[in-house]
Amino acid sequence: MSSTPESKSSALQSDHNKASVTTSMPEHISLDKWADTGYEWSGEVSPNEFNRLAGSLSTEHEQSKTKLDANLYRRNNVLHLAFTLTGEVWLTCQRCLQPVAIDLSDDYNISLLENETQVRLVNEEQDYLLLDEIITEQSPERLLPFKKLVEDEILLKIPMAPKHVDCEMTVEQFGEIPEEEESENPFAALASLKGKL
Ligand SMILES: [Zn+2]
Repeated sequence: MSSTPESKSSALQSDHNKASVTTSMPEHISLDKWADTGYEWSGEVSPNEFNRLAGSLSTEHEQSKTKLDANLYRRNNVLHLAFTLTGEVWLTCQRCLQPVAIDLSDDYNISLLENETQVRLVNEEQDYLLLDEIITEQSPERLLPFKKLVEDEILLKIPMAPKHVDCEMTVEQFGEIPEEEESENPFAALASLKGKL
């Protein structure tokens, strides 16, 4: 027997993880290890750590860290990944091309279903994903792509064309149609037409 006792080495490792408060966000959560007992992670993440998001970030403004509190738990035999984001990202305003802060702060909750038959166990409004579709990595243990799932939600949260709410670049400079003309109710014309028939 040349192998060292598995339990001892992993116990030491988890003690070490607890000691360092500033551990970076884990890429994956092992479902073999945590699906039954639950798993929590809290910490700060720099928006630049998300590869796909990084391409949309403004380079003209310093990005601040986003607070993330995540909780993997089972309810009614269905696995859930819930997390709260607190913070903002700086993107580029599509009107004036200056940095614009987009708030990410929200509570997110995704049901992680073992199979299609579990769909009936969650509310109609509940977001869900099938584990078979999100666990794509070949590995001996089932790894939930934690970081990717959080990034997916951030990408859904941010607008396709971010703009300042009170952008100082006036619409006239771009020759856009003044908003008064757009606001005419199309149903008003329809209603008057209908009356004549
Ligand atoms: Zn703007």
